[in-house]
Parts: sequence; structure tokens; C-alpha cells
Amino acid sequence: MAVITNHMPTSELQALDAAHHMHPFTHGTGLAGKGVRVITRANGVWLTDSDGNRILDGMAGLWCVNIGYGRKELAQAAARQMEELPFYNTFFQTTHVPAIALSQKLAELAPEGFNHVFFAGSGSEANDTNLRMVRTYWAEKGQPERNIVISRWNAYHGSSVGSGSLGGMKGMHMQGGMPIPDIHHIDQPNWWAEGGDMTPEEFGLERARQLETAIQELGPERVGAFIAEPVQGAGGVIVPPETYWPEIQRIVDKYGILLIADEVICGFGRTGNWFGSQTMNIRPHIMTVAKGLSSGYQPIGGSIICDEVAEVINGVEFNHGYTYSGHPVACAVALENLRILDEEGIVTRVREETAPYLKEKFETLTEHPLVGEAKIVGMMGSIALTPDKASRAAFESEAGTVGFICRERCFANNLVMRHVGDRMIISPPLVISKDEIDILIARAWQSLDECHAKLK
Ligand code: PLP
Repeated sequence: MAVITNHMPTSELQALDAAHHMHPFTHGTGLAGKGVRVITRANGVWLTDSDGNRILDGMAGLWCVNIGYGRKELAQAAARQMEELPFYNTFFQTTHVPAIALSQKLAELAPEGFNHVFFAGSGSEANDTNLRMVRTYWAEKGQPERNIVISRWNAYHGSSVGSGSLGGMKGMHMQGGMPIPDIHHIDQPNWWAEGGDMTPEEFGLERARQLETAIQELGPERVGAFIAEPVQGAGGVIVPPETYWPEIQRIVDKYGILLIADEVICGFGRTGNWFGSQTMNIRPHIMTVAKGLSSGYQPIGGSIICDEVAEVINGVEFNHGYTYSGHPVACAVALENLRILDEEGIVTRVREETAPYLKEKFETLTEHPLVGEAKIVGMMGSIALTPDKASRAAFESEAGTVGFICRERCFANNLVMRHVGDRMIISPPLVISKDEIDILIARAWQSLDECHAKLK
């Protein structure tokens, strides 16, 4: 049996991959014929594939490689920790230094009043934790009927049964018996697609007030929490109108329900602050984290818990946890990642320098005939493709057809951009330079041109 290495011909790697590897969110049949790209190495914002192409990663992997690829300090932190203590659990009254140090660092970085962390292996696991924690919290407060968690259609909170139910992806709900009971969804604040004749401000209020209507219909005594991403990511980088979050906060406060901010994408500098909740000026009780926590160098997630909730949960035995909750190697790597983000001033540079520059350039894409709105917060942005800007019309083809063509043109031009329906999105590593931003925009423009030509 031949050893499989980076040096094998691409076609052989593709054939083996198609024969044995089942991919997430991928139609498996005929994968071999589709020329799956084999990524072999990466540095900074640049990927290299098995054909030697250098590709600008406009998505930071899967919204996660915040510090960029190739930081040796993280590899060294992992190696050191593996030699010293490769694994120990954090169950049953044991702990270890990496978990202590990382939870302390997160308490330091998080807004005031957040001093506790429950670790998980991923964002999905962390949101499952949140679901159980919220229900346990209310049960311990003597209100076990406050079971319902309200979320939003087109939200993404993960792929496990619990987190997938919290999410609002209908395509996911169609498979595998989701959503589980007592999860309720309201509409998303996507003005471009759903705002009709309303101004963005009116629409933001209308969508936020759906939360109040839902609480009243379901019964305020039955609703435990509202979960949302400060800026929806996988749903297409939907930046809510300015009126949205203040109204949500008012409603959450009025009914005394818990607010879970899913910071899996927004956290760790993506929006120009450490947390998206700070950028959107909201006061959650729980923040879900993953991805940028370790810049994707190790699988780790967690829930950062406010003091009020932590006190209640710490008052009972919370029968929940994962073998890899607080995995020492993942914690050591995450800690080193946070040190770099912090000491190199990467979050501040995003906020003050590179994000404003990216915004200016990104918004010029609206001059392209195919592009309606361009929305961007920090280092996450999206453009809406449309056949008619004035009416914000959708294409006649099935939703996503044009987005797919555009994504394929981006790939051909050595740029990773993702499409969600007919929205194109970016979320580059936070270390992207101004020169690299220029390259990203030039390649996006060229890909849009080629997509446009194909539609004619
Ligand atoms: N929450 C949000 C907002 C996400 O974007 C994701 C993943 O994209 C998740 C949760 C799930 O995280 P994971 O894939 O690590 O389980």
C-alpha cells in the first residue's frame, strides 16, 4: 500500500478522497469528477494546493484562522504540551495548568461580569452545553417550565442535533429529526432579501419585535433564552440594521430572558473588537466561542458564562461534559493564540487600520453591475448579487446558481470566497495586509466580471 503524501499526483489524491472520505455539507456522488481542491500547505493568508497554486484565503479556513497560517509559536506550544501532559480530563475534581490559564485569560478578555468558562471541543458542543445550561439554570431558579429557546431562521449554531435545532437552516432540519422540541424560530434581519418597502431602520424594528410577539404567544413564563450571532455568519454575513440589536436588548431585559450571543465567528477580533457583542453593544449572559479561540490550530470551543448564571450552575452538579472539555493541548495552543492576538495588537489593528481600509475597498464592489449591497463589519463582509439593484430582485434561476458560478470563478482566480445562495462572503485572516486586501478586491472584481459574462 503506497504511503499517501503531498507529493502524489492530484488526480490520485482526488480519487482516494472520493473513494473513502465523506465530506461535511457536500453532495458525495461524483466528487471525483468535480476536481476537489487538495490543500497542501499555508502561510499567512496564502494557501498552496497540490498543483502548486497560491490561493488567497478570503475565508480564513472556515472563518477561523484569525492569526493567519504558519505561526510556529502555536506548533511549539502544542509540542511542549504534548510532551508534558498530552491529555488529562477535567472531570471529577481534577484540573491542569492549560485549562486554568486559558479560562483565566478568557475571563480577562471578556466584558466585565464574565468570569467562568465551560470548555467544549467545538462550537456545536458549546451550544449544546448552552441549551442544557439555560434549562438547568431556570430549573434551579424554580422555573423548570422556562424551557423554550428562541432563535432565528437562517441562523447557524452548529451541526449536532441540539445546536442544529437551535440553528435555523431549513435544509438541515429536513434531515435527521430536527428541530428538537421547545426551540422556536423568528425571522432574520436580512433587509436586502426580506425588507420589502420598509426602510432598513423600520425593518430592523419589525424583525426585533417578532421576538416580543413570540414571547407573548409562547408565554413569557415559558421562554428561557434567545440565541443569536451578533452578526449572522454562515447565513450570509447578514449585518442587522442599526435599530435591531437595541430593540432586542430592550425586549430581553423586559422579559428577563437569558441572551446567548453566539460568538463562534464574531469572537476574537473578527468584528474589530474582542467580541461581536461589544461591536453590537449588547449585554449577553452567555457567549459561545470556538474557531478564532485557537485560530483553528486546535479544535476547541466553550461557553463564557456571566457571574449570575455561573453561580447557579456551580451550585449544582451539572451532569454534562466532553472527554475533550479543556483538552490541555488545545488550551495551550489557544492560550498562545490569544497571547499573539493580544501582544501583537492584531485586534486593534483590525479596528483602526485594516478593517476601515477593507470596508472602503469592499464597498467599491457595489459599482459592479452584478452587485447590489455590500455589507461589512470588521473582517466579515458580504455582497448581494442581483439582476436589478433598484428593485433588489433575485435571479430567476434557482437561488444559489449565480453565487455558485461566481464562487467557481473565484476559485479559478485563486481566491477563496464562499457563496450563500446568491450572496458572496469574505472573512479573511485578521492579519491580512493592505496590499493583500487590494489583491482580494481585484480578484473578486475579475471573478464578478467573468460570472457576469457567463450569464449573458
Ligand atoms: N456557531 C456559529 C455562529 C458558527 O458559525 C459555527 C460554525 O460555523 C458553529 C456555531 C459551530 O461550530 P463548530 O463547527 O465548531 O461545531
